[in-house]
Amino acid sequence: MDTTGITRIDGEKVDGRRPRVVVLGAGYAGAMAANRLRRNPAVDVTVVNPQPFFVQRIRLHQFVSGTGDPQVGFDDVLADDTRVLVDIATRIDTGGRRVHLASGAHLDYDYLVYAIGTRHRTPEIHGAAEHALFIADWVGAQRIRERVEGLGEHETVTVIGGGLTGIEVAAEIAETGHGVRLVGGRGIATSVGARARRATERQLSRLGVDVVDQGRVVEVGERTVTVDIDGEHTVLPSAATILATGFEAPELAAVSGLATDEIGRLRADATLSSLDDDRVVGAGDAVAVEGITLRMSCQAAEPLGAQAADAVLAKIAGELPNIVDQGFVAQCASIGRRAATLQFTRRDDSPTRAVVTGRLAAWTKELVCRETVENIRREAARPGKFSWFSGPKTTIIEPEPAGR
Ligand SMILES: Cc1cc2nc3c(=O)[nH]c(=O)nc-3n(C[C@H](O)[C@H](O)[C@H](O)COP(=O)(O)OP(=O)(O)OC[C@H]3O[C@@H](n4cnc5c(N)ncnc54)[C@H](O)[C@@H]3O)c2cc1C
Repeated sequence: MDTTGITRIDGEKVDGRRPRVVVLGAGYAGAMAANRLRRNPAVDVTVVNPQPFFVQRIRLHQFVSGTGDPQVGFDDVLADDTRVLVDIATRIDTGGRRVHLASGAHLDYDYLVYAIGTRHRTPEIHGAAEHALFIADWVGAQRIRERVEGLGEHETVTVIGGGLTGIEVAAEIAETGHGVRLVGGRGIATSVGARARRATERQLSRLGVDVVDQGRVVEVGERTVTVDIDGEHTVLPSAATILATGFEAPELAAVSGLATDEIGRLRADATLSSLDDDRVVGAGDAVAVEGITLRMSCQAAEPLGAQAADAVLAKIAGELPNIVDQGFVAQCASIGRRAATLQFTRRDDSPTRAVVTGRLAAWTKELVCRETVENIRREAARPGKFSWFSGPKTTIIEPEPAGR
């Protein structure tokens, strides 16, 4: 608490009140930012999130198959004096520094952390919007789980998308005994190196996943998919069709008149400040940082959340925020509960020759999932302690723009 009752905001003095920071979204980036903001105990932090608990998005595929629970209580991960509003931000009035909420209420802020993550992107596949299920967020995962639980013994699930998310979902469902077909479109696990890819394919095959790596789904019906392989269309039964074809950001920034990129992410400068309004600071999947390409991941989201909080605190103190600096160390995909592929990377996320597979990789992946939550907990207990790997010194690669 500021005992003087006077707090500097960008050099201004605000009498008798603490600087108000509203954090939109309490995922990996938002929760990390909210806790780190406690480095300055004078800051009043309010978090807005649609769910009344923290969702470990990286366990959604486990939720779908009943092997893991992604819900963690906010009282377990957020610092004690954080106010949480279970609501949805519908518009940001940047002129009035006010966030409008779905409930009809509003929140005034001095600074805003924009960390609302991403949702599924519906590809231009005929029938997908009507008949497919989407693995991207809590609501989508609940729908998939309901459908998977209702499946008959011999019914087949189709997963569309050969990236790490599609692989994780396909493997997790296959391990429960259901028939699973994984249609890659542009190949399977293309973000990892050849060794890791071969190991991933072997593990998928052990679980009985039917991998159609070069096929493209061109139509989704109520209980079918039409796959194009070398120009030939084949209609296949599919009791549930799950899309894992990339993410996009919700339209909040765009409807609020803030500049966005082609998939709706808030465009921010290298200090994470919105290009249009330096009171708005982006973090996590929902931000596109000028000049830097970061794979959407919790690996990127937590350091971004910490740096967003640091940027806000610098602004409150009338200082210039630092330029974002962070890098990757690995890509990791679970392949059911007993195997995984761990591909070590350079800081720019490009694969190295180091690959770990099988049980050791599965154990490591589980550790990573736990650590991502522990990082946030530790930051609540000791704000400012979270650290991360710095970024590449020379090159920035351009991985796929939308999704893991
Ligand atoms: C099945 C699956 C597996 C994955 N596995 C991995 C993995 O192994 N490793 C990895 O690094 N990444 C993985 N990812 C990607 C990772 O989950 C995301 O990159 C990460 O969650 C991004 O963190 P975030 O905080 O930006 O967004 P999120 O974690 O999505 O959090 C955003 C929060 O904002 C809330 N929100 C949305 N709209 C609003 C609004 N209008 N107002 C207020 N709140 C709002 C959301 O409900 C959510 O709680 C996986 C993703 C999926 C779907």
